[in-house]
Formats: sequence, C-alpha cells, structure tokens
Amino acid sequence: VFSLRKQSTHRIQHEGYRFYICNLSADTIVYKGQLTTHQLWLYFKDLQDADYETHIALVHSRFSTNTFPSWERAHPNRYLAHNGEINTLRGNVNLMKAREGVMKSKKFGDELKKLYPVVEDGLSDSGCVDTVLEFLIMAGGRSLPEAMMTMVPEAWQNDVLMTKEKKQFYKWSSFAMEPWDGPALFTFTDGRYIGAILDRNGLRPSRYSITKTGQMYMASEVGVTNVPDNNVTQKGRLQPGRMLLVDTKVGSVIKDEEVKKYVSTSRPFGDWLNFQIGLEELHAAHKKPDIINNVVEKERVPVETDRRLIMFGYTVEHINMLVLPMVKDRKEALGSMGNDTPLACLSTRNPLVYEYFKQLFAQVTNPPIDPFREKIVMSLACPIGPEDNILEPSAKQCQRLFLQQPILTLKDLEVIKATTYNGWKTHVIDITYPVCDGKGGLVPALDRICEEAASAARKDYTIIVLSDRLAGKDRIPVSSLLTVGAVHHYLIKERLRMKVGVIIESGETREVQHHCVLLGYGADGICPYLVFETISSLRQHGLLDSSLTDDIISDNYIAATERGISKVMAKMGISTLQSYKGAQIFEAVGLSDEVVSKCFIGTASRIGGCTFEVLAEEALQRHVIAYSDRSCDNQIILNPGNYHWRSGGEKHINEPESLANLQDAARTSSKHAYDKFKESAMNAVKYCSLRGQLDLKFPEVPIDISEVEPAANIVKRFATGAMSFGSISLEAHSTLAIAMNRMGAKSNTGEGGENANRYLNQEEGNSKRSAIKQVASGRFGVTSSYLANADDLQIKMAQGAKPGEGGELPGYKVSEAIAATRHSVAGVGLISPPPHHDIYSIEDLAELIYDLKCANPQARISVKLVSEVGVGVVASGVAKGKAEHIVISGHDGGTGASSWTGIKHAGLPWELGIAETHQVLVMNDLRSRVILQTDGQLRTGRDVVIAALLGADEFGFSTAPLITLGCTMMRKCHLNTCPVGIATQDNAVIESCKDILSGVKIEPIHINLKINNEIRTFATTLSYYVSKSFGEEGLPDKTINIKLTGTAGQSFCAFMAKGIHVELEGDANDYVGKGLSGGEIVVYPPHDLPDSFQTHKNIIVGNVVLYGATSGKAFFRGCAAERFCVRNSGAIAVVEGVGDHGCEYMTGGRVVILGTTGRNFAAGMSGGIAYVLDKEKKFSQMCNKESISLEAVVKDVDVKFLKQILEEFVESTGSNVAKEILDAWPQPLGNFVKVFPHEYRAALKKLNKKLVPELNSVIKVEKSVTNGPSIVDIEDSIPDVEKSQKNLDRILDKKKGFIKYPRNNNQYRKVDSRIGDWSEIHNHGEVKTNIKMQAARCMDCGVPFCQSTNGCPLGNIIPKWNDLVFQDNWKEALERLQQTNNFPEFTGRVCPAPCEGACVLSINEPAVAIKNIECTIIDHAFSEGWIKAIIPQHRTGKKVSVVGSGPSGLAAAAQLNKAGHDVTVYERKDRIGGLLRYGIPTMKLSKQVVDRRVALMKEEGIKFVTNCEIGKDMSPHSLLNESDAIILCLGSTLPRNLPIPGHNLEGIHFAMEFLEGWQKNQMGNNNVYLDAKDKDVIVIGGGDTGCDCIGTSLRMGAKSITTFEILDEPPVGRAENNPWPTWPRIFRVDYGHEESKLKFGEDPRHFCILSEQFLDDGNGHVKGIKAQRIKWTKGVGGRFEMKKIEGTERIFPADMVLIAMGFLGPENSIINELKLNQDPRSNIQTPEGTYLSSMNKVFAAGDCRRGQSLVVHAINEGRQAARQVDLFLMGETSLAGPGGVI
Ligand code: SF4
Ligand code: SF4
Repeated sequence: VFSLRKQSTHRIQHEGYRFYICNLSADTIVYKGQLTTHQLWLYFKDLQDADYETHIALVHSRFSTNTFPSWERAHPNRYLAHNGEINTLRGNVNLMKAREGVMKSKKFGDELKKLYPVVEDGLSDSGCVDTVLEFLIMAGGRSLPEAMMTMVPEAWQNDVLMTKEKKQFYKWSSFAMEPWDGPALFTFTDGRYIGAILDRNGLRPSRYSITKTGQMYMASEVGVTNVPDNNVTQKGRLQPGRMLLVDTKVGSVIKDEEVKKYVSTSRPFGDWLNFQIGLEELHAAHKKPDIINNVVEKERVPVETDRRLIMFGYTVEHINMLVLPMVKDRKEALGSMGNDTPLACLSTRNPLVYEYFKQLFAQVTNPPIDPFREKIVMSLACPIGPEDNILEPSAKQCQRLFLQQPILTLKDLEVIKATTYNGWKTHVIDITYPVCDGKGGLVPALDRICEEAASAARKDYTIIVLSDRLAGKDRIPVSSLLTVGAVHHYLIKERLRMKVGVIIESGETREVQHHCVLLGYGADGICPYLVFETISSLRQHGLLDSSLTDDIISDNYIAATERGISKVMAKMGISTLQSYKGAQIFEAVGLSDEVVSKCFIGTASRIGGCTFEVLAEEALQRHVIAYSDRSCDNQIILNPGNYHWRSGGEKHINEPESLANLQDAARTSSKHAYDKFKESAMNAVKYCSLRGQLDLKFPEVPIDISEVEPAANIVKRFATGAMSFGSISLEAHSTLAIAMNRMGAKSNTGEGGENANRYLNQEEGNSKRSAIKQVASGRFGVTSSYLANADDLQIKMAQGAKPGEGGELPGYKVSEAIAATRHSVAGVGLISPPPHHDIYSIEDLAELIYDLKCANPQARISVKLVSEVGVGVVASGVAKGKAEHIVISGHDGGTGASSWTGIKHAGLPWELGIAETHQVLVMNDLRSRVILQTDGQLRTGRDVVIAALLGADEFGFSTAPLITLGCTMMRKCHLNTCPVGIATQDNAVIESCKDILSGVKIEPIHINLKINNEIRTFATTLSYYVSKSFGEEGLPDKTINIKLTGTAGQSFCAFMAKGIHVELEGDANDYVGKGLSGGEIVVYPPHDLPDSFQTHKNIIVGNVVLYGATSGKAFFRGCAAERFCVRNSGAIAVVEGVGDHGCEYMTGGRVVILGTTGRNFAAGMSGGIAYVLDKEKKFSQMCNKESISLEAVVKDVDVKFLKQILEEFVESTGSNVAKEILDAWPQPLGNFVKVFPHEYRAALKKLNKKLVPELNSVIKVEKSVTNGPSIVDIEDSIPDVEKSQKNLDRILDKKKGFIKYPRNNNQYRKVDSRIGDWSEIHNHGEVKTNIKMQAARCMDCGVPFCQSTNGCPLGNIIPKWNDLVFQDNWKEALERLQQTNNFPEFTGRVCPAPCEGACVLSINEPAVAIKNIECTIIDHAFSEGWIKAIIPQHRTGKKVSVVGSGPSGLAAAAQLNKAGHDVTVYERKDRIGGLLRYGIPTMKLSKQVVDRRVALMKEEGIKFVTNCEIGKDMSPHSLLNESDAIILCLGSTLPRNLPIPGHNLEGIHFAMEFLEGWQKNQMGNNNVYLDAKDKDVIVIGGGDTGCDCIGTSLRMGAKSITTFEILDEPPVGRAENNPWPTWPRIFRVDYGHEESKLKFGEDPRHFCILSEQFLDDGNGHVKGIKAQRIKWTKGVGGRFEMKKIEGTERIFPADMVLIAMGFLGPENSIINELKLNQDPRSNIQTPEGTYLSSMNKVFAAGDCRRGQSLVVHAINEGRQAARQVDLFLMGETSLAGPGGVI
C-alpha cells in the first residue's frame, strides 16, 4: 500500500493537476481541510455520527502563516501534525535526496528506486518531515518512536546527566541522519501509538493531564477540555527533547525514559560505536610524522611578500580586524554603527563571492537561540565521510570520521590526505586553472572539478579534498565557495554525495562568514591554510607574540570560529552544525541565475546580477595586482577601507563630505547647503545601495503642487529610529523627542526605556516624551506606566545592524541613571536575550500584540522586522496577528555593537524587504490593515519617494537626525476597526474598580470571578487605567483584590500594576506575570483535586512566567515550565519547581524554588538572588555557573528573608512543601542553595556602604529613578568585558583619551632660545616624550574626518597610525604612513595640517596633534635606520622626465621610479627641492632633511639634473622626443606684485627673492643676499611665507618688523560661513608672530590695512609706506566690498619691504613653447580628475596645474599624476590611487 501511495503520487501528479492521497492506512483516517475548528464538525458529517468511535484523536488547528494555504498542506499529515518550523529544511531535503544513492532495502529490492524521491516536491516543511518519517517506518524498519528520535534528537552532546545507552543511541543515529532542527512540537500516531515530541530547546508549549478514568489530554494549552478537577491525577508538560507516548493497545502511558530506554537498548549501539573514526585515531595511525612537522615548522614567507594574500583578496583590515583578534582573544572582534558600504554587486573592489551572501535569521516564526548562555543545546560535532545504508541499522553506519568541529589544522589535513586507516583514501582535486585561460577558464575548471569529484566518489574514495594550494603566479584559484557549492550539488544530482566527505583546503577562506557559507553549501571540513601560515609568519618575523605557537594559533582561531559559527547558526534558531550543513540559510544579492543554478541551487537571488564572466574577471584582476612583475604599491597588503571609511577607498554612505554638508545645511538652514548635501548624499547612495540604481519616471504633465500632500503633513509620517537613551546621550535623546513632538512626528524610546519624568511631566512645546515606546526582548524598564504612556508600542523582533542577536551591557558601564531607567542596579551587567526570546511562533507574537493592546488600548501596536527573503510572509502573519503597524528595517542601519560577521553579512536591503512586504500584503488582502514603515540609512527626499513607491507609508530616520544634531558618526488605528478588542473580563473588573480608578475611594475592594483559557491577558487593561491615573507609584498594596477560579489564558496578569492582587485557584498558561509591574499574583491548584495530587510534581503555570518582571510578588503552588523568571529585574517569586533555563538573564529580584530545576539554571544571570531547595544535591549539575556562585544560606539577612517569604507563601497558597520546611525550621536550611551572581555581589557591596542591608531597601534602590547622563546602550555596548578591562588597565586610557589628556601645544622650542639660531624650531625631543599620550587622544572615529576631503589631502590613514603609535608599534605605523605619503618628514614639518582642522575633536576640543605624530613616526624611523633605499627589481625601459624638483616633482619621481621607469628630474636651480629647498626657511625645514631624502632617491635610481632650465638650457621638444612621458611640476612661481606708486623703489622685494638669497648663502653659495639687519622691515601679506619672512628677518637682526594684511583679523572661533570640517580661518599665532612679540613686545600684524604708496627716501630707496585702514562690508549680491576709513591714513617707516602676496601661476616659457592649453588662471589645463595636458605624453602636476597651494596638495598631485603616467605607459598600474588605495 505504501508503494502504491508513493508511486501513484510520483506518476499521477504533474503540472496543472492536483493529486494527493491523505493516507491509505487501515488504522487511521485523516481529515484534512482548510477549516476552522467549528467548521470541522459541520463539514465532515461522519464526525457528527453518534456511532462514530475512536480511541484516539489528533486535532491540529493553527495560525496560518503560509501566504497561500492549500488543502494538501493542511494538517494533519499522514503520520503527524506539527506546530513549528524546520529551519534546516533545505539541507535535510538535499541530504535525503543524496541518501537515495546509498540506500538499499531487502524488503523492496529494486522496487526501492520507485519510491524515490523520498521527499516529494511542493510539500511544506511538515509535509517533508512526514514523508521521511513514513519512509523510515515503512522502508527503514524503524518503529514510530525510534524514527521520531532519529529525526528530532535531544540535545545529547553536552548532557552530563543522560544515560550512557541513550547517548550511544543518539550518537549512532547521528551517523545515519542529521537532525531536522527547529522549534517544534510534533504529535504523531500510527493508530496504535499516539504521542508527541518536543524539540531540543523546548520552544513550544505542551501541557497534558491524565484522569482517573484513563484518559489523557494533551494540548498546547491547559484548559482546552472541561475535565472535572476531581478526576485529574496528574498535570504535566512535555520537556525539551522529551517524548510522550500512549500505547492504546496495551492501554498505558509510556514515559519518555521508558520509550527511550527501550529504543536505545534495542540494538548493540555501544558496540557499533567502536567502529567510529576520530581525528585522534587518524593522527595515531599516521606513519610519517615528519610530513606533518615539515608542514608546520616550515619557514614562512614574510607577510609583506606573500603575494597569495593579495591574490586571495586579503586586506589589512582582514588581518588586523578579523583574523588577529580571533587568534589573540579566541573570539571575533566587535564593530558597530551598521554597514554602509556597497553591496558586493555594486562594489568596484573585486569582492569575493562570499560577500554576495547574506545570512538569514529567525524572526517571529521561530526564535533565535542564545548560543552562549544556552550552549547546552549547541553542537558543532558532525560525522563526515561515506554514509551507510540508513535502511539497515548496523555498525556500518558508524564507519565515518567524527569531527568535533569543522575547522582542520594544517596537521589534520596532512593526515587526512595521507591516511589509509581502515581502508580510507583521500583524493585531492586541484581547484585552480592556468592564468592563460583567462576569464573563460572558470566554468570549464568548475566542470572539470565536479567530474573529478564524481569520479573519485565512484572509485570509492572516502574523502575529497578540494585544494587551491597550486594557485600562484601561473594558476588562478577557482573561488572555494563556487567550487564547494558546485561539487556538493553535482554529487547530490549524481546521488554520490553520501559516498564521500568534502573538505576544502583554501587560501581564500578566513573569516567566520566564509566558513559559514562554505558549510551552508555543503563543505564537511575546512582548512584555511593561509590564515595559519600568515599568523605563523607574523610570529616568525617578530610581529606577534612569540609565545603563540602554531598549535596555540590554530587552537585559538578554531575556538573563535566555533563561537562565530554557533552565533550565525543560532540567529536562525539552529543548534547543530549537522543540520546547518548544506541548509543554505542565505540569500544571494546580485548573483546571476547561471551562477546560482550551478553552484547554489535553490538559493534566492532576487535581482540577478554577476555572471561567471564577471566573477572570473574580478579574480583575474586580483591576480594581476598580486603577481604584477613590477613592484609598485601593491607590495603591501591592500587596504581599501571596507570596514572603516578611508579617502579614495571603498564607498560608504556615511562619508565625511555628505555628513559635513548635512550638518552645514541643518545649522545654517540654507538651501544652497542642503543642495550640496543632497548631491553628495545621492552620490553616496548611488554607489552603495539598490535605490541608487533606480530612476524615477515622471509623467509628461506633472500634477499641480496643490494636489500634493503638504510638507507639514508629510513630516508627520517621519519617525526617528529606535535609539536608546544610553546609546545616545540624554540630551540628544530628548532633543530628538522635542523636535519630533514639535513637528507632529514621532520619536522612539529604543529598548532602553524612558524615565517616567519625561512622559509624566510634559512641558508644552518642549515635551520630551517619546511617542513610540519600544518593547524589546530585554524588556528594560517596561512597566505598566511606561506602556500606558505611549502612542505606538513597538515590538522589536529584530535589529537592522544585527538581526537575530542579543546584546550585553557590561556591569561597569551600567551607571545609576541607566540602571534606574532600566529597573536594575548600577554595576550589574544587563544581558539582552536574542530578540524576542519569549516569542517562539507567530501565535506568541499575536499574544504579545494582544497583551500590549490590553496594556494600552489607545496605542497603535507596531512590529519591527528586518528585511530578508520571506519577510513579506512574516509580515502577513504579523498583520494577521493584529499588528497595526509594521517596520521593515534595512540591514545597513542600526548602531548596535556586534561581531563584524553579524554587522556585515546579516539581513538585506530595505528596498527588497519593503517591496516584498507590500506586494505580499496586497496579494493577501491584508495591506489595508497595516501601516508600513521602512528605515535604514534614509537621507534625502529621493529616498523617501522611492520608499513610498515601493510601499512605505512612513519613514524612519536615525543617522541623519543624529548627524544634524552634530553627530559625527563616531559613532490610533486609522481604519477605525478594533483589531484586537479588549478582554471582556477586564471590562467587568474595570467597571467594578471605577471609584478607585477615578480616585473617589481607595478602600480595598474584593471581586470574585471565574476564568477560562480564552480570557487572555487578564488584569492588564485594568493596570493601564491604574497607571494612567496613579503613574509609576500605582495604588497601595491590595487595593484591588480579585479571586478567580478556573484556567487562565495566556499572559495572565501581564504588566500588572501595583495595588492589584490576583488569586487564582486553578492553573494558568504561558507568560503569567510577564512584565509584572508591582502587582501580586497567587496561583494554587483547585481544592477538590484528589489528596494524592502532589503539587510540586505537577505543573501549574506554563512557560516564560514573569518574563521581564520589574517589581511585585508571585506565588505558585506547583511547578512552572521552562524559562521561569527570565529577565526578571525586581519581582519576588516562590514556586515549587521550574523547568530548563530558570532565572536566565535575571538582573534583580528574589526567587525561591522549593523543588527541582531544569538544566541551564541561571545562565547569564547577573543580578538578584535565587534560593533553591536541593534535597538531592543535584542542583549544581543543573546550573550554568558562569556568572554566579553557589553558597549556603547562612547569613541572617537571607535566613530572615527566606523564613518570612515562606510563611507568606504558606499563608497565601497552603503549600504543603513549604509548610513541611517551616515545621522543621531551621534544619531544612542546610538543603537550600543560594545562587548569587558575582556582579550583583559587588554592586550590593557598594550599595551596602550607603544603605541598611535590608533586602527591601535594596529592592527599593533597584527601583529608584534618577536622572543623569548615561554611557552606552545595551545594543551598543561592547560585550567584550575582558578586553575592555584590559584596555582600562593600560596606563594610558585611549577610550577617554581626549577627555583625560590635554593637547600638547609645545611643539616648538622655547621662543627665547630658538630666536638666536637657525636650527629647526620644532621641539622634536619633547614632542616625542609625550607622543603616546597625544595618540591616545585620537578616538579612531567611525568616519575619520581627519582624512577626508577637507582633512588630509593625501588621505593619510591617521587613526590607524595614531593607534599604532599608542601601541608602541612604530614599524607598522610607519608602513601605514608610507602607504599614502612619500615624504612625511616634509609634511610633518611644514604642512598647516588641514587634518587637524577637520579632526572631530576640534568641534569642541583641541584637535589631535596629528602633524606631530606624523613627524615623530618618520623621524623615529630614520633614527632607527629603518628607512632604506628600495631599488626596483624590474625596469620597464620607459623614460620619464620630470620638470621641477619641488614636492610634486619629487613625489611623481619617487612613484614612477617605484614602478620601474627610468626617471630623470630636471631642476633649473643649483639644488634639488624647489620650494622645499629655497622657499621654506631652514628653521622650519632643515635642509639636511631635504638632502637625506634626495640622497635616498638617487640611490633608488632617480637621476637628478640641476642648473638645467627646460626652455632655456634644453628645448621642451627635444626633452619630449627623448622621453616616453614628461611631467611638468613647474610650481606657481610668478609672484603677485603690488603696483602702487613707488613700487619700483629700491628696498622693495618679493619674499621669495629674500628667502632664497639668504638660504643659498647659508648653504655656502657665497652669494649676495638681502639682509634685514638693523632695518625696519615691513612684510606685506600674511600666510606662511609672510611668517617665514618675519622669522628670517628677525634672526638676521631687523630693527623692527611689521606685517600688513588686507583682510579682517580672523575671528577666534569659526565664523558661520566657515563650518567644520572645512579649514578653519581663525586667528592663529604662528612661530614668527610669537618670536616677534617676544622681541618687540607686540604682535607684528596689522589687519584691514591697505598700502597706498611706497615712500621715497629721496635716493630712490624706500623709506616707508603710506597706508590706510579699511573696512569690509557686504555689497550687492553678497560680495564683500572694501571701504576706506577716512582719517586713518598713517605712514609706516620701512627700509625693507617684502611682498608676500602669493603667486599668480607658473612661468610661461615651456607652456608657450609646447602650446599647452591653460585655464583662466593661467595654470596648465587638464580635464577634470586627470593630469594629461592638451599634448600627448605631457602631464602636469602640482601648483602649475592646481594653482598655488599647500605642499601636501603638491605631493598628492605628484603621486596621482605618476599613477596616470604609469597607466598611460603600461596599460595597467599598481601605483596607489587617492588615499593610498590601489
Ligand atoms: S600631511 Fe598635513 S594634512 Fe596630512 S596628516 Fe600630515 S599634517 Fe595632516
Ligand atoms: S584624528 Fe581626530 S578625526 Fe581623526 S580619527 Fe582621531 S579623533 Fe577622529
């Protein structure tokens, strides 16, 4: 019959026809229908027949989340009904298909193939499980219970209490099949047996009762049947991983232990396990240890010269930010502020294929797991290699290699490659192809690899190693991910996958994301050899701690990877790697169909995209950069700024220009500034996001503006993002709230709560109340009053920056203010569970929506989701769950701290999410029920319009409003329907309490009522009215007393306010006392239960009781199920027993447990105290002791509390258990264990200094509300306590560096000592002593403005070298510096440091002393002898001539020589250096510093020709003829004159003439120079040159020095039109001014002064200047106009006048001769962004092209021109572009 069912299903069903057999069983009848429970009886008439009898019934009614439910998919299936999700479905189905290749059946023989495919197409996850279950029973000879145990095993791996036999069974069965993992309650029957099994996490409720008359009822709630209480003998629940079975034939209930004992002793599993193979055995059997040692101890190539790193796309960030922290700290490093870089398909930086994949995560339909606090359910252990026939149980199944985790060390892999143990053999497949095959080589290589893998499997090889070891100069590696995906799917298709294990040996894979994607697409083992070799090399070359042996390196890296993989699996709710493997829990963004259908079959890739050709081209480009013969800037590891923005690197949405423009626009309210912002923001969006790729279509005739919604209304659709007070300052948080309130928009509390003062005391026009109040899994500060004072209540199911993850705020960051707002104790760490830890299904969410609606009937209930494939379906479920508002967040938003893996690779763009959600809601007729909002890096009106067109009604902004506030990246239902209704019972109660609620009377009242499980969220709306009327304080205790009998529905007494006391005789379901806010709950069993009913062995309340309770009391006479008191922060509870995960994440309150606990008690518990009665002394094993200690209860304060509370408990509930304890008091005290969190103890100690150590006072302190600034929010904290502590321990504190340490302004020697000599003014010695402290001031900004458009023109990687200096790592600091700057010794001395003007600190503080740090690094390097000539290995034979040896010429020459060209520099003067030589005086830049550099350049092969003026000594044309290219670096040397009367008089000179003459003389030229000795010197013109004239003439012995500046005296601070981060035009005192003041008693500068005439002394020599004061006013059109001030005329005596008014442009002779185009300012013209002039081969750089500018700009010009010349000559270049990026 089974065969008939299968074959007919395969044959008859085809497209266009529906065919489905319910079942053909003689034992069960399946009624299937898309019916409500009421309709069921009406539709199936036989069910109404009185003669119809059955001894079992299995009914399934569910909340349909499927978009398009169908009859076939309706439950029950043939064997089972299922409440839950199979998260690993795709992998399970693929492996089942693969298994078909190795299955054999004696029973079916050749017919077996006709049963294939085992899993039929088009089934739901439950349908798939059902078919496999059916198959295991029918073809595999398994009993129904055994088959269920195989598919849904318990968490056996880490269970120390599990019996040996059971463990052996589970291990054996894991060799045969991977778990079908996910939250699930399976109920099943074959007609004889009926039972249920719960998943390993226990993520579904299941309650049962057994009667005296021999019936058993099991349902996901109590109260669904009306069994009289006096007939009940037992009330229980199904526990995680447990099975409940009834044998109807024998008429008995078989307990979990019995069933499993029977199954696990049914075969000799223990003996069979002796055949398993472990890595240790392979190592032991390995005959050639020398091979291994060679591999490991080999001399490693230095990292800088390891070209493989570049070929495999390594960057400095990968090594420093990802790999090194893993090796050093055994965990991944953390990042924050979201991900604002381009999607891989938009990046121009050759991303690896891994980057196209986005991790999926659980939201709503199943919960993510906390892999750390709940690690007992996690396991990375997997058997790999050939799988035997699952249909015939035997020892053969065990002959597989059992890996504890998937990362293989170099040694492991060598052993596996060489093994012959037990007949195993390994085939290594080369996954590279010849470079000469070009980009066309990729696909054939993939085909060849797949075929070779299939052939190896056919030849009975047991392991295939896919290796790219041969990749190098001549061979390109095929992406390891493409290879694994293609091979895995090919082998599945060929039914060969189960015959071999697939291991990848790749240089490409290095980070957690890579490992996860490889595993997700089928890899069994991974050897990231290049990681191990790189770290080893760093150590061998002294760059890493020498104590890190190879074994420690691999061990640490593996430990970090294990953590990382667990975290990625956990966010999807998957707990075992065995099920995660091949499950493809990813979505691809930007990969074409051809790639997906070959390598990633079944993966969603919605927008199509890159083809094999593009991927091959990008691999080729990486290879070219890596193996170019010429050693250019690619000799170093690349650093394109994927993680931290850097000039010239990868694009980021939050780039400095855009941020600065937005701030400017916000500050000045100017349209011009906004337009600038719009332009830069739109550019950023274009490069980074999907919406940037969209164009708007406009109709030919636009509609009239009057028809458009007015702007004032549009802004009402805006909301600020959920940023907690704490993650941003109180001031910023309340400012946003005020702003939003004023314009009728909404601000959001974030999950950190809101101080009651803000919503209770609202000041008109300045209200700080946030309209949206968030309720997150952490439940921080969620009280009845908080909920009652919201317009929107937002349930945060996921967070854009790190969907699926929780967070942690270390205790030392929890200030009193944060603690008070979050209802905790200062100093106690706050661990946030993964998002909505208490929501296991859509039903649970619907319940929370209902709860919140009850908690505030006026509020709109919003649910926040994050974009991923399928979010539309989830949103439909959420809409069906009666949410009124749904937020779809993009992956890129958020500020939360998380591992980089989460930030970079989880979640999808909001564009995809909002479009999908809108469309799915429309298709399901649900769109009109909800309002949709989207957020994620929204910036401009265009973003809003696109979001609206894709389906959004409202728009959330987070970063942008913060930026407008000055952040610099530092990092009612409108439908008039009543969607949820109000619990009717509550209405009656509320009515009874009217007088109290209105304040008419406050005498206690008493109400008696009956309750049933349909009445949910009892007393919550009542609490709303209490909170609205009486605020946080509520009512006096026991003002409203309600006595109930019956079974309470879910969320009984949720958020119950103080003053309400509820007593329930009966039992209750899940979520009792959720968010309890001061109320009191008492639950005890019905009085008429039989005497034999032992309350402490029976269940009375369900899962997740007192979740997030903040205060109040709860007494339960009986046991609670799983997750009791999770996130309790202040309630006191007594219960007679609890299930798994009790008191998890608890931060406050007291819990007394008078019976057994489940496993993992106190995981993540950081506060509060639990007292557990441990008669059997087993509690210690059940406890997660990471954050707590276990103590005896001996202290008076504990004993007193315990006794008092037990007396109260007995009085309230009549508990026998407690009474017996009290009767024997104090003897039972010895059986109590006190669970005391370490951090709590420390916090209490502090408090106790201030307070009487009474428990109640402590609890009061927990509740006290104070105001004050905060530090960090839960999501934004850095949970790396250890590391943070280490940082704090450092002598210097970099975290608060700029607050603690002042800027060192003593960069120059003392004035009185320096004015007497010509040595450098810089005080190098003192600067260096203080430099680490100065480096500590740098905050390593998320967006380092210091290196931006307005910051360092070279894009110097300032924060990095600052940090390296701070760490004393001078060598690496030097490397970073040289990446962008050829001559830091020049810029470090003469650059005016625009970087410091743009430094974020400079907004409110003195900037970081960047220039000093720069100079110190390079000087230190010279003094250490690290700077050596680097002679290029390859010469191209191309000749390049550089005309001019100033900074641009030298930079161009240095770069071109590096690229292997023959470079000659022509200088018309007698020495090399241009401006550096003669324009800058020696006290600012010692000429020895210039000579040192020139000498190095000579040594490197650059030829210098001096005294050769092109155009005079040599014709430009002949130079052109003998060169392959020339670069004109002529400078801007035509000085601006002052043609006023008398300008021809003697004694009037240009500044350069003066400076040059003297310096030549100083160098021994013996020339005549202009001497200022004893003269009255007037310098006309400010600026650096003017200052140099002051310094020089002063040292020469001038009699007086005066300077004229025509402009106004600059303001002390920035003017409005000079916003940060532009160069600050402010009043500065430079060295010359300082010196002059000391010598002559006053600052030499005169501002607003106009020279009118040079006066003649009668001998043709100047004797003075007639000058007049002027005034600048704004004239027509806003232009500044100069006006003379009458009567201010004055004569200034002068013997020497120095004109320092700047330069007009380059000298013209060469330009004219070559007939080059010039711009209007007479500079050489080149098209924008290029350096090629109007003549072929002739390039221009520096001041002659750009106009007069800074030395740093000139160096930048030289570098960039050189790059273009190299490209021009060679067709490709590896010289660095802007910002040092290649
Ligand atoms: S070169 Fe100038 S702008 Fe750049 S970091 Fe150095 S001092 Fe700052
Ligand atoms: S130098 Fe200033 S702007 Fe640059 S990273 Fe440091 S603090 Fe930020």
